[in-house]
Amino acid sequence: MTDHRTPLDSVLETVGETPLVRVQAAPDEVPVYAKLETFNPGASVKDRIGKYMVEQMLERGELEPGGTVIEPTAGNTGIGFAIAAQQLGVDAVFVVPERFSVEKQQLMSALGAEVINTPTDEGMGGAIDRAHELAAELDDAVVPQQFGNPLNVEAHYETTGPEIFEALDGEVGAVVAGCGTAGTLMGIAKYALEQDEDTYVAAVEPEGSLYSETKGEDAEEADYKIEGIGTHDPDTNELFEPDLVDEILQVPDRRAHDELKRLASEEGHLVASSSGAASAAARHVAEQIRDGEGDAPHDTVVTVFADSSERYLSKGIYRSFEEWEG
Ligand code: PMP
Repeated sequence: MTDHRTPLDSVLETVGETPLVRVQAAPDEVPVYAKLETFNPGASVKDRIGKYMVEQMLERGELEPGGTVIEPTAGNTGIGFAIAAQQLGVDAVFVVPERFSVEKQQLMSALGAEVINTPTDEGMGGAIDRAHELAAELDDAVVPQQFGNPLNVEAHYETTGPEIFEALDGEVGAVVAGCGTAGTLMGIAKYALEQDEDTYVAAVEPEGSLYSETKGEDAEEADYKIEGIGTHDPDTNELFEPDLVDEILQVPDRRAHDELKRLASEEGHLVASSSGAASAAARHVAEQIRDGEGDAPHDTVVTVFADSSERYLSKGIYRSFEEWEG
């Protein structure tokens, strides 16, 4: 961790301690604060788990120096793991479904990792299976498995949660965050609920994703363009604990796209679609609290802007909704 005021030995030391910035369009009475994870060296929230998980696996002897991490990933996790692996002396291989952005795959390769693609129609499940097959073929290879590894949640419980509470002097009314693996939301929520069991917790997913089913709601499965959050098979999202969550908010692609463009043009944030969805949902929760419809212990809402729009320029993220490939 760093205050960025002293010289450091490695870029790995710059992971975390990201800024918390007010979302200006949110109600004055119930401010929304966004954790700007684009300030991490790999420009996403996933640098946190890359550093935390590789360090912990080395410390526990689950991974040997010179060994290999093989991870199924939509991309940001690969970048985070690639930086950590390179700096901590292990090799990295990533299995990525084809539909995910080429920018991310290029960055993983630039960081020295090997990238293997699996067919889009096999989804994340296909990538997970392939990662395990590869690990079985290699000596000293581990699959950290961000979808099922409690260290993913722990990384956020140990870092993101405490940072938020410190910045707001403990006055956190609601936590609202997008769920891919759900590590980010679960880690922050666990920390928050320990500080105050009444903290309001909302998960964010794209419309068409099926997390809502875990709360007994009817969700209609559909494709979506928002990248990095959501699930087509909640059974693979082993870390998600519905009991910790008060509400699951579904955000349509169009709403997320409008909001990410607005965040850039009005508030100077170059953030991507999962951040657009998180911002829209967090503003909604803040409005509910302001209108007396939500029960939160403080009049503040915290959310997470997970990654940067620059990573999706090739997909036309700033073009019209129809031209945006998602
Ligand atoms: N946004 C983006 C762009 C992501 O890549 C991810 C991770 N898949 C998330 C949000 C969600 O993070 P988590 O996996 O911790 O739920």
